[in-house]
Amino acid sequence: MTQRRVGLWLVGAFGGVGTTVTLGLSALSRGLIKSTGLVTALPDFGKLGLPEAAQFVVGGHEIRESSFVDSAEEFRKNSGIFDADLVAACRDDLAAASARVKPGVKLGAGPTIAKLGTWGDESAPRTAAEAVDRLEADLAAFVKAERIDHLIVLCVASTEPPFQTRDVHQDWNALNAALADGGEDLLPASSLYAIAALRGGHTYLNFTPSLGASIPAIYQLAESTGALHGGKDGKTGETLLKTVLAPMFAHRNLNVMSWVGHNIFGNRDGVVLDDPSNKASKVDTKDRVVTSILGYKPQTLVTIEYIPDMGDWKTAWDHIHFQGFLGTKMTMQFTWQGCDSLLAAPLAIDIARLADVEKQRGRRGLMRHLSCFFKGPEGVEENDFFKQYDDLLRYVAQSA
Ligand code: NAD
Repeated sequence: MTQRRVGLWLVGAFGGVGTTVTLGLSALSRGLIKSTGLVTALPDFGKLGLPEAAQFVVGGHEIRESSFVDSAEEFRKNSGIFDADLVAACRDDLAAASARVKPGVKLGAGPTIAKLGTWGDESAPRTAAEAVDRLEADLAAFVKAERIDHLIVLCVASTEPPFQTRDVHQDWNALNAALADGGEDLLPASSLYAIAALRGGHTYLNFTPSLGASIPAIYQLAESTGALHGGKDGKTGETLLKTVLAPMFAHRNLNVMSWVGHNIFGNRDGVVLDDPSNKASKVDTKDRVVTSILGYKPQTLVTIEYIPDMGDWKTAWDHIHFQGFLGTKMTMQFTWQGCDSLLAAPLAIDIARLADVEKQRGRRGLMRHLSCFFKGPEGVEENDFFKQYDDLLRYVAQSA
């Protein structure tokens, strides 16, 4: 029997997360690394029929002309991550995957992202319709050439500025009609990718805080094609800790007065988040969770600062000021020193594997059971990590 082939199409392929996913899948399929960090490698997930690393075929879109090998080398030099021998052992896979990466589109991505690269600028689409058509054609060509059974489009591109939706975004027919003349202000690039994926019936996952599929019109599109989707913004570090610790304060009836989180890091995501408008999207998903779990709003502050010499290493320092019995004020502080791409990549692989399980079972629509992987889980109000994880285990028990 021929093995099922799962396409993983990375939007923002040569970035930190995209490169680490690709290197990780290659290293896993060659048996060179352990599955540490992969949630779906835990025994609870053993009976789901998850696709193995070797079943994934990676392709993608990028706006910077580069390659997975060059990107891995950049991370190795600047951040001291990835073993040189491991990159060398996976070199052929990385080269083959690089050849499947096509120039992306940046219509609506905003000026800071547009400055990152010029790949594809000479044939840049002028309208949203042209952009979607081109992206969709790239996806279809990949599916055909690689004999893909299930295509998953995973957005790991740079964070776009927040986007204000209007009437036209409430209805797919209206939005579809507007694509023909649509320019920079109709939709952000992340949503053009989402439309291209969902219109073709492919799965769309959004690992970023950008808008992507998160508007009623695009939900309607997904419903009409029966495509799977989920997001958004991977919960990998400081926010993961917030959603683990906030339940403790709630369950002990301790009154959190303020929660301040300062984040410093130096990768390319940091370059983009250094622009205040792009940063606003990230601060929003990071800031909401504490209020949602506690059920009241303490004073909160989230800062994100770009410190180039830190490379892919992020330090978060959180200061939590809370009140106990007799009104006594106390403090909890933590520091988190995580390597961003290494935390994110296994989770990106997890959600892709779990999406394929849904596809194999013929399911469609929003995958709410993936909420524990996201800072801003779509269609789910619950942000408590433990309750979200219980939801995932309940799903596993029903689906195994
Ligand atoms: P990165 O800057 O290293 O990679 C992003 C890549 O996207 C870049 O290579 C860039 O050229 C490319 N890109 C930008 N706009 C594009 C477009 N319109 N089309 C195609 N390619 C485009 O960033 P990263 O650290 O890999 O993070 C990727 C995304 O994942 C960011 O939005 C980030 O906020 C989100 N995220 C990351 C983590 C983490 O821990 N690393 C956690 C949660 C969310």
